Amino acid sequence: IHSKLPDIGTTIFTRMSALAREHGAINLSQGFPDFPAPEGLRRALAHHALEGHNQYAPMIGEPALREQVAAQLQRFRGVTPDPVEEITIVPGATEGIFCAIMALVDRDDEVILLDPSYDSYEPAVRLAGGRAIHVPLIEDTFAVDWDHVSGALSSRTRMIVINSPHNPTGAVLSHSDLETLEELAELRDLLVVSDEVYEHLVFDGARHHSVLEYPALRSRSVTVYSFGKTYGVTGWKTGYCVAPPALTAELRKVHQFNCFVGVTPVQLALADFMAEDPDYPGTLPGFYQAKRDLLHRALANSRFRLRPSAGTYFQLLDYSDITDEPDHSLCERWTVEQGVASIPISIFYQAPPQQHYLRLCFAKQDEQLLRAAETLCRI
Ligand code: PMP
Ligand code: GLN
Repeated sequence: IHSKLPDIGTTIFTRMSALAREHGAINLSQGFPDFPAPEGLRRALAHHALEGHNQYAPMIGEPALREQVAAQLQRFRGVTPDPVEEITIVPGATEGIFCAIMALVDRDDEVILLDPSYDSYEPAVRLAGGRAIHVPLIEDTFAVDWDHVSGALSSRTRMIVINSPHNPTGAVLSHSDLETLEELAELRDLLVVSDEVYEHLVFDGARHHSVLEYPALRSRSVTVYSFGKTYGVTGWKTGYCVAPPALTAELRKVHQFNCFVGVTPVQLALADFMAEDPDYPGTLPGFYQAKRDLLHRALANSRFRLRPSAGTYFQLLDYSDITDEPDHSLCERWTVEQGVASIPISIFYQAPPQQHYLRLCFAKQDEQLLRAAETLCRI
């Protein structure tokens, strides 16, 4: 049959988690917590399912949840999007990103992706009929080279996708990055998809800079979030998009014929929990930074080189002092032979540079992190 995505296979996350399961390896590959979500949140889901809230939600999402999202954005970002015109609940950030790209990218439009880029962006661009133009982040620091981005723009460039805190590198964009992007987007009339699913996971006292805080950027952006990351419920597949009314209207045209709605009791449970504990996201930097630091201390005597991740729940390990083996084969081999599964990052590049990094997820119980580190110290 004719394939629309002939070069695309099963995602690296699915493959590495399956390999970890098959070989009983400690799974530090796919990004999800191995510890339970807050009990109050889980009880709220059971409650709403038992109470009979099991039919279709409104297409744009349960009002109570959109209200809570607006309140949370006010609390943490100082912005007040309209819950009716500007906030859309989606069944996962992946669906939100897909709908935004499908709705806004036309045939032959170019979309700038910054490599290493999350794996769902490029297939969405291609299915929309657009062309992905890959600009690499600067090697080793993973900062954006804005001159390189500028040079990659053409009269066909419609959109740029940014992701901060950044998966897989853990880099975060600075205030001056956002200012530069704002200028560039205005000058070249670009739309922005801003993937901020790790917004609350920023460490060392730094703070997240959202496109929502820059009025000129906000007016041309779809910003995408995931409750899966913030509340530790990746399996609940629920997120939201924030965009000005005109962009939201286009996004919803696709959403209503893609998934139509998100899952009702999940939305109601999240709304209850957010109302009860509005400060919960504020606990995340301390909680995850402690895990990051535990992993660092435990790897101090290893042959890996690591620079502390600035955000997300991922940590890169530079293994260039150990071997020249390509990261994808090394990840598979170490899952089988050493019992620790990780993610190769060359997968996220169109043209992988000569570098040797593995990504570890540290959203895991301390004992799992310590066991994995013990093994990695013996390599
Ligand atoms: N963007 C990034 C950068 C991610 O890491 C993820 C993670 N899983 C997603 C989007 C998708 O989130 P969701 O599970 O809510 O679809
Ligand atoms: N975003 C998660 C990660 O980076 C995985 C999500 C997925 O499996 N698609 O590991």
